[in-house]
Amino acid sequence: MPIQQELPDSGPGSMRKGARGTARATPTHPQPPLNRPYILEGANVVLPTGTVKNGRVIIDGTRIAANAPENAPTIAVDNHWLLPGFVDIHNHGGGGASFTSGTVEDVLKGIHTHRTHGTTTLVASTVTGDMDGLVQRAGLLSELAEQGDVAGIHFEGPFISPCRKGAHSEALLRDPDPADVRKLIDAARGRAAMVTLATELPGGLDSVRLLTEHGVIAAIGHTDATYEQTVQAIDAGATVATHLFNAMPQLGHREPGPIAALLQDDRVTVELINDGTHLHPASLQLAFRHAGAHRVAFITDAMDAAGFGDGRYWLGPLEVEVADGVARLVESGTIAGSTLTLDRAFKRAVTVDHLPVEDAVAALSANPAKLLGMYDRVGSLEPGKDADLVLLDADFALKGVMRKGEWLVDPQLG
Ligand SMILES: [Zn+2]
Repeated sequence: MPIQQELPDSGPGSMRKGARGTARATPTHPQPPLNRPYILEGANVVLPTGTVKNGRVIIDGTRIAANAPENAPTIAVDNHWLLPGFVDIHNHGGGGASFTSGTVEDVLKGIHTHRTHGTTTLVASTVTGDMDGLVQRAGLLSELAEQGDVAGIHFEGPFISPCRKGAHSEALLRDPDPADVRKLIDAARGRAAMVTLATELPGGLDSVRLLTEHGVIAAIGHTDATYEQTVQAIDAGATVATHLFNAMPQLGHREPGPIAALLQDDRVTVELINDGTHLHPASLQLAFRHAGAHRVAFITDAMDAAGFGDGRYWLGPLEVEVADGVARLVESGTIAGSTLTLDRAFKRAVTVDHLPVEDAVAALSANPAKLLGMYDRVGSLEPGKDADLVLLDADFALKGVMRKGEWLVDPQLG
């Protein structure tokens, strides 16, 4: 929660209390008057096999359909792009709300904020806290996962290196004792998606094995590991690099460190924060060229200020100042998450980084969906999958968002 700023008033477009005392995000826009299958027609449709010009996507209820009935209504979306909804596997909050400390209403507000920027599938990330607090948090977030509001929980810390702590509270860091890792897995009741850990710490490799056995992604990050130690962790089962380049030793010619190990191993997907602050465009290019577009996942690593504004916030127990959209710890000036939304990450990827649209879409949708084991339902515009899609104009500005067939941002076809 922000310290100085108040959340906007709850209105019909934000949150309301549900029947069981929990809050549900409500759409901010009315639905098109269509209760039968209809066709979005004329767009550049980005499919796993490439972009289809003047293509169509058929919406049938909550799903994408292969065929439309005769005389199905159409919405013309010429000169626009249709992409699959974005999947964010690393996100701490938004809309003024924190996934680590907010109430259920706050968390839903943060989710809704990101949805209106194209993120239709979101993993809620926590930051380092004490074990009791994290166990409690896991309980709350797992309920939201059961309701389908989040796709899972990502624990970033407390099992990270004090040398690379970033915006995590040093006093609360601890070694990755498998017994503690197990506590978080259990508290998440089958909804733990990922744990970021410094695998070189005592218990690190055993914890990687434990996570892998439980179907939880072991992510290497906030680490001081050498190249060799990183290779060991990958061999033990780690499959994700938490925000590659950030909070880890940099590439050196005699000490290649974790970056070389993570980039060169086909088993690893590398997260990148493409906000123009965390990474130089050349570093992004290096990662794409070396790993290949199929092994990159764009993330936001967003904190409360995403989609909200500058001001003072808390990130776990640490105070953060957000100025000009850049979040920094008040105490040290260390970058403290981002204020990124994935529509901006996409636009930057294609207009500043000059990535092919298809590669950016892979990094925003298909790759993270595959990592989460959800590619049979989300991550591409294919028949049978959820009707999750993002509509962009010719300049890649967001003009509509649909989730499970429901327009969360009504199509604006100026
Ligand atoms: Zn993070």
